[in-house]
Amino acid sequence: VLLHLLAPTAKPFADKLGVARAVDQHGVAITFDDGPHPEGTPAVLEILAQAGISATFFLTGEQVVQRPHLAQQTRAAGHLIALHGYQHKLQLRLKPQQVADDMRRGAAAIEDATGVKLTHHRPPYGIYSPAGLETAQALNLTPLLWSTAGKDWRKFTTPARIATRATKTLKHKGVILLHDADFYSSKLSHRKTIEALPLILAELNRRELATVLPV
Ligand SMILES: [Zn+2]
Repeated sequence: VLLHLLAPTAKPFADKLGVARAVDQHGVAITFDDGPHPEGTPAVLEILAQAGISATFFLTGEQVVQRPHLAQQTRAAGHLIALHGYQHKLQLRLKPQQVADDMRRGAAAIEDATGVKLTHHRPPYGIYSPAGLETAQALNLTPLLWSTAGKDWRKFTTPARIATRATKTLKHKGVILLHDADFYSSKLSHRKTIEALPLILAELNRRELATVLPV
């Protein structure tokens, strides 16, 4: 419910702060938030492997400590591991110190589990507080939001609808937001995402949009 209320405000707020919603390279970036998830992450990894495509995973520390092997597996498959947070809380509802602590704790958990030096961050709900942006800068993390969202967190959606939303207005340099986990969205939402992903990849293929990792 919170996400639905906040989604419309996320874009102007982030744009005002100059946070990126695009990648620099020719192509598009596919991104998955909120994992690793015991069912969603392996399923997504398998689809991506079969398609020979690399994606970006914005992980939550509290899920990484539950299943570090999935974070390691994601990394080993050549995908970009990035920071979402430790917990999944709206930064604007936290005190500045709590935001900084959560991001640092999340980064440490992910780096401990994977050995990766993190380079990118996206806050829960795509909304930064000033302290969140400052902390990203202090940790040398590039903020990256998205240009199209599958809105796969919604209870009443379908794989076809997710795929359409993710690709309809997508252009070169675009960033697609999807979720390989249902921890913070409607129950079993990742199953629809898993069904939508091949549809999205087929559409990218049809439009000759290559997939890239953000730099
Ligand atoms: Zn999230």
